[in-house]
Amino acid sequence: MSTFLGMPSAPPRGTGNLRGTEPFPAAARDELGNTQLRRNVGKATRTIRDKRLAVTGELPDWEQLRSAGAAIKRDVLARLPELLEQFEQAVPARGGTVHWARDAAEANAIVTRLVRATGSDEVLKVKSMATQEIGLNEHLASSGIHAVETDLAELIVQLGDDRPSHILVPAIHRNRAEIREIFLRTMPDVDPELDDDPRHLAEAARRFLRERFMRAEVAISGANFGIAETGTTSVVESEGNGRMCLTMPRTLITVMGLEKLLPSFADLEVFLQLLPRSSTGERMNPYTSMWTGVTDGDGPQEFHLVLLDNGRTAALADQVGREALHCIRCSACLNVCPVYERTGGHAYGSTYPGPIGAVLSPQLAGMHTGPDDPNAALPYASSLCGACFDACPVKIDIPSLLVELRHQHVEQAGVSAESAAMKAASAVMSSAPRFSTAQRAAALNPSASAGT
Ligand code: SF4
Repeated sequence: MSTFLGMPSAPPRGTGNLRGTEPFPAAARDELGNTQLRRNVGKATRTIRDKRLAVTGELPDWEQLRSAGAAIKRDVLARLPELLEQFEQAVPARGGTVHWARDAAEANAIVTRLVRATGSDEVLKVKSMATQEIGLNEHLASSGIHAVETDLAELIVQLGDDRPSHILVPAIHRNRAEIREIFLRTMPDVDPELDDDPRHLAEAARRFLRERFMRAEVAISGANFGIAETGTTSVVESEGNGRMCLTMPRTLITVMGLEKLLPSFADLEVFLQLLPRSSTGERMNPYTSMWTGVTDGDGPQEFHLVLLDNGRTAALADQVGREALHCIRCSACLNVCPVYERTGGHAYGSTYPGPIGAVLSPQLAGMHTGPDDPNAALPYASSLCGACFDACPVKIDIPSLLVELRHQHVEQAGVSAESAAMKAASAVMSSAPRFSTAQRAAALNPSASAGT
């Protein structure tokens, strides 16, 4: 006789902003019609790509660093429960409080309760994929709490009532003229003569944010890394806005995905080389902030860490797919992807766009919630050219993961190769023009119909 221990039979799937409203092909078709977006994204990805190639090419041990990063991540996932327990004990030992969130709803409820307890109705945000994933800003707004994004690109997205379209550069689809227009329309007291010089735009954002930094009581961040042995948390960024958020307010709340753990402080050495070179094409991050619990009279006096599952243990349970949890969100795979370069990030529907998003979104949130689940189309949003694998600093074999997800999709949807072929044949034969085109194509390429 079995005893019910109250454990769920399957790990919880992720919820929040991990699924679009329409399948990738339909969304991509709309985005492809936006020539301004294609121009903006193409120019930006080319620039970051060239910078990354220059700074990764100058390191003689770049390949060894990538292998070291992959090995550390493999080790973390192999003993994640043990490391999480270690981390859970180290954080309170230094004055922090740990909260566990199974999914987006739990994480949002915890953060909202913590902010309410401070009596504040405004919070500062450090750019964070985890909080975008759970839809935290929207949830806080529904509780009367206004979240102010402090990363410049994230602020542009927020003021423009827009959605991020890139992991690292959320406003990559906007050009300078569009940003100027957004600032003039939404920033109170902005100079009406503001032009689109990047320095002037940055100065306008700085003035807008400075006042909010001075009065904020609460800040919310994500985390690039958590160190199990010491309970340290770390955020890397380029603008100094993160440093302001992490040091000035009285209360700091950090939402961290379970997979962001590293075993020891020494492991940071590898990732603090891999991440900046792969993401912004810089040799090191301009700002690397680390904090361990709280320190009397210095920085936030209250620190809460929300450890977020939201589908991560479901991904971990997949022996093949778990490799995607190695991801350090550098965005190098987006910048080299020929599909992303043409469609931009919105077509993927989820917080996570590009090649890694096409893997992570179905893994975290599933792809079989119904016959038309938009996530089911994502594993096919790739030419499998392999550029993402070559660029990935932790050697995630994204093309193989996409093929595995296609396999799982076909298996779980009950779609056999034969029925897919019959469906395609039926579509061709039911239309005279399509049938003629197929005949012409077969004449041009006889091997295509011979199954070679
Ligand atoms: S999959 Fe690799 S290249 Fe893509 S964002 Fe993650 S770490 Fe970077």
